[in-house]
Amino acid sequence: LVSRKQKSEDTVLTIGDVRIGGSEAPVLIAGPCAIESEGQMDQTAALVKELGGGILRGGAYKPRTSPYGFQGMGVDGLQLGRKVADRHGMQFMTEVMDTRDVEVVAQYADILQIGARNMHNFSLLREVGAVRRPVLLKRGLSATMEEWLYAAEYILSGGNENVIMCERGIRTFEKWTRNTLDLSAVALIKQESHLPVVVDVTHAAGRRDLLLPLARAALAVGADGIHVEVHPQPATAMSDNEQQLDFEGFRQFVAGLNLISKQR
Ligand code: PEP
Ligand code: MN
Repeated sequence: LVSRKQKSEDTVLTIGDVRIGGSEAPVLIAGPCAIESEGQMDQTAALVKELGGGILRGGAYKPRTSPYGFQGMGVDGLQLGRKVADRHGMQFMTEVMDTRDVEVVAQYADILQIGARNMHNFSLLREVGAVRRPVLLKRGLSATMEEWLYAAEYILSGGNENVIMCERGIRTFEKWTRNTLDLSAVALIKQESHLPVVVDVTHAAGRRDLLLPLARAALAVGADGIHVEVHPQPATAMSDNEQQLDFEGFRQFVAGLNLISKQR
């Protein structure tokens, strides 16, 4: 179902007033790593919206390396995200980590995010295949393109055709970046599949100084959107301090992105 052999034309998703895929202009998905407070979400949403971003992200359930790290605000965070997105006329995207939470996350979010660590969680994939909400499917930490497409197939075969593929870097021997952004995957998945593909530069690079050049490169190879994390005070953020942009950095990032458009 994910293959171009089954469906030759690009899938274009309509999520509220946002359209993604095909010949639509690239979308900007931005927001903090984790939802921390109403003020933090509100300030961030205002800026993202001002600069043309239609989708607000923010994690209420965080997949943390350490069980002692901040795990997210849970349902309180979902409610905050919904409220702030509505206030600014935006779509709200947030991660669902557990099959038991799919229903409540689908109640508050416009887009369900499947994180890299859960790309291979087939029960979760089946569960989000059964809901009528768009799903952003991150590529697994060491997933091949074929495995990633099969993960999407789980969702489509459950009856949910609204899937966005998200390349977020894969694990390699390289240590100077958190992950290695695989731009060939963007070009190749777009050839093999009709689904939209976006690039998460934040988790790929793991460092601020590479976000803009990587995003520009992603658009040049045909990405349908860019995902980036922005926080009012990255230094004191509850997660991903090293790679979230501050507001000035985000302004510069968006200004730099406008210089290049998606290649077709
Ligand atoms: C995230 O986007 O919040 C996240 C945890 O990313 P990933 O699953 O790609 O590591
Ligand atoms: Mn993050």
